[in-house]
Amino acid sequence: MKKIVIATKNSKKLIEMRNAFSELPLEILSLADFSDLPDAVEDGKTFVENAKIKAEFFMSKTGYACIADDSGLEVDALGGLPGVHSARFAGFHAEDGTNNQMLLKELKRVGVEESKADYRCALVFLDKNGTIFETEGICYGTIKKIARGQGGFGYDPYFYIDENKTMAELTLEEKNKISHRGEALRKMVKILAAYL
Ligand code: IMP
Repeated sequence: MKKIVIATKNSKKLIEMRNAFSELPLEILSLADFSDLPDAVEDGKTFVENAKIKAEFFMSKTGYACIADDSGLEVDALGGLPGVHSARFAGFHAEDGTNNQMLLKELKRVGVEESKADYRCALVFLDKNGTIFETEGICYGTIKKIARGQGGFGYDPYFYIDENKTMAELTLEEKNKISHRGEALRKMVKILAAYL
């Protein structure tokens, strides 16, 4: 069975991704199966560029085919920020709580109560023989100042999928059905099912 490494250090993303690939004939490893892996330098200007950087970096470090994701939140009222800087909106190694505080601070600074927003996800699969597959997904919503729900991660408690419900109020299964990562993963699963 082919071994692949899911190249993310985010445990919540790992669960979402492992779940999606569970039906494929793959032995799935994660970065936690390797010791002392450094971080990739995510200096791409787009989600796809960053996902490629991570897939290439971790394939070279682990020696296995890799699937990497890069994702983030784009807020209309903030001109698309935090975008590729979503994980470190409040600084390097920032936590979800401080990133969310930064989001609220920025909304206040530009003087809006709420804003249209979207989540985007790019996935890249890279093989040792140079085979590369890319997929993307998008999920539209609204950022509001009142947090709701305990599920998901990141900006989910502030990301309203409709008038009264946030992404953090969904089960993992419900989130996967509508999320940016769910969409990108479904496209990737189709491609890999044909490839493997
Ligand atoms: P990455 O690990 O460099 O791709 O950074 C992704 C960041 O975007 C996360 O740390 C979150 O802040 C945000 N993000 C991406 N996907 C989601 C999601 O499904 N829910 C909430 N926040 C997300």
